[in-house]
Amino acid sequence: MKNLGEFKCPKCGWVHAGISEADAIAAVTDFNEYFAALSLEAQADFGGNPTTLERYTRCFRCGAPAANFLPAAPGDAPVGCTLQVVIAPNTRVLVELLETAADLSAHCLVSKADMARMNELCDRTQEGLPQLATATCKIDTGGH
Ligand SMILES: [Zn+2]
Repeated sequence: MKNLGEFKCPKCGWVHAGISEADAIAAVTDFNEYFAALSLEAQADFGGNPTTLERYTRCFRCGAPAANFLPAAPGDAPVGCTLQVVIAPNTRVLVELLETAADLSAHCLVSKADMARMNELCDRTQEGLPQLATATCKIDTGGH
């Protein structure tokens, strides 16, 4: 699973790790295969239900669509914390959004470096980046 960068929910500020739609689909498939092999008791520990791709399309905390997420600025997420995973937003759309909304860019404090990263992502994902999404699997960054 490739981390495409950190993206922040514009509504509540929660930071998520962005992955491609293909990686999200793979993560859902992997988890559900694992889940199906568990005892009912163990399944209950995961809430009793298999996961869905839809869960990768929303903010883990407030449920806002991940399609509207913005690149996180350095320091938005505490170092070493565990980030929930979402399908990374279409960064080309984000760039347009930022270019047309001065308020937004001021609010989100997108640095020059982040802007460069977004442009890079756009080039890399031209073939059809994802609709945005939020995930329920977690990246263990070694913090806790
Ligand atoms: Zn949110």
